[in-house]
Amino acid sequence: MSNFDGPGAGRGKWAREGVPKKGWECVNVEDLGEPSQICEMCEAMEIRYVQYMRNPRYADTLACGLVCAGHMSEDLIGAANRDKTLKNNTRKRKTFASRRGWYINGKGNPQIKDGWYRVTMFKTPNGLWKGVVNNTHIDRSYFTRDLFESLDDAKRAAFDTMLLAQEHHLQSSMPVNRF
Ligand SMILES: [Zn+2]
Repeated sequence: MSNFDGPGAGRGKWAREGVPKKGWECVNVEDLGEPSQICEMCEAMEIRYVQYMRNPRYADTLACGLVCAGHMSEDLIGAANRDKTLKNNTRKRKTFASRRGWYINGKGNPQIKDGWYRVTMFKTPNGLWKGVVNNTHIDRSYFTRDLFESLDDAKRAAFDTMLLAQEHHLQSSMPVNRF
């Protein structure tokens, strides 16, 4: 029995030729607020906490649940940690958009600081909002996955992205055990 046939008894894209089964990296996360989407890898699991997975050998980014994301990245613990972080922050996420601390920066963009992280919101020429999260400690930037009609939705997406940035930082500053 191999675990790496993937979960869901090889359902969905796990059974499809031309879809890489390994080598995926989580590039963003999102709390949908309720289970409202089917995992794009197994095409079976209904998910709320989404991990957006990318692979250089595949054109599309796939929105996946914890189990598939863990197998695709061959990092079950990393995927479980990202899932847990999203779950633990649902309340903070809810109030993030209206939190005290938002100000308008010198360029006219809404901005907030949270520890090492600086979140800046931008209005694109077509009137949609996106955000960038900068880890000021290492000067690494993460962009929200999508563009949003509402500033508050974009802020909540930026909050999710900040959680991923924090998770990355935690992982990179932890001693790595290789077996
Ligand atoms: Zn799945």
